[in-house]
Amino acid sequence: MNLRYNQLTLMRILVISDIHANFNALESVLAAAGEVNAVWCLGDLVGYGPDPNECVDRVRQLPNLQCVLGNHDAAVIGHIQSETFNLEARLSIDWISDVMSEDNMVFLKSLPEQVQVGKVTLSHGSPRNPIWEYVLDTYTAKLNINALGTPLGLIGHTHLPLAYFEIDASQPIRWKLLKPNETVYINSRFLLNPGSVGQPRDHDARASYAIYYPEENIWEARRANYDISGVQLRITQLGLPTRNALRLGEGW
Ligand code: ZN
Repeated sequence: MNLRYNQLTLMRILVISDIHANFNALESVLAAAGEVNAVWCLGDLVGYGPDPNECVDRVRQLPNLQCVLGNHDAAVIGHIQSETFNLEARLSIDWISDVMSEDNMVFLKSLPEQVQVGKVTLSHGSPRNPIWEYVLDTYTAKLNINALGTPLGLIGHTHLPLAYFEIDASQPIRWKLLKPNETVYINSRFLLNPGSVGQPRDHDARASYAIYYPEENIWEARRANYDISGVQLRITQLGLPTRNALRLGEGW
C-alpha cells in the first residue's frame, strides 16, 4: 500500500466560524490550514472587529465554499434587531451597516440559515435554532442531536472548540473542550464546534479552527498565531469599543 499517496489524496475541509471582522486572524488561519478541498464557514463573518469588508471579500473567494448566516450577519442585513445585542456588539453592527460594500451586503443576504452537505448539517447557533441558540450544556446538545437529520452537526456561536457526542442513545451525552491538535474520531452522533477564528473565548488567544477529513471521519482541532496587537490597534483607531480590543489579548 502506498501510504504517502493515500495521505496526499485524502479530502481535507477547512471549518471556520465566528471570524468577526478579524482579517489578520483569518489570513493566519488560511495560511496555517494549507491546501484544502473546500471551506465550510459557520457564520458571523462580521461584528466586533475592524475589517468586515476585507473578511467578507476573502471568504467569498474561498474554494468550494459553504457558508451559513450568523446572528451578527443577520443583524447587519436587517433580519434581526440590533437592540437584542449587548452594547459593544450593537455599536459594531451599526458601524458595519454604514461601511459594508453593496456587493458584500448582497453576499450576506444570500446566505442560508442552514446547509446540509452529505452526512453533515451546518448551522451557526444550533441545528434546531440556527441563529440564536447557544449549545453550552449536554441537555441542549441532546435536544439538538435528536433534531439533527444527519449523523454530524457543525455549529459555531459559542466561540469554544467543543465536541458533544452520543455513545449510544441510552447514555447521557458526553462533551469535551478540545485542546489544540486534538483529534476526534467521529464514530457516533456528534455536534462539533471549531471555535472562533476572530474572537476565541476559551482563554487561548490564538485563532481557532478545524480540519475535517470526511472519508476518515476525523476532526482535528487547531490553533493559529496571528498579529493580535495589530488588530487591537485598528479597533482603537476606528473608535470601536475598547472592550472588543482588550478581549482579543486574553481570549475571552
Ligand atoms: Zn460570534
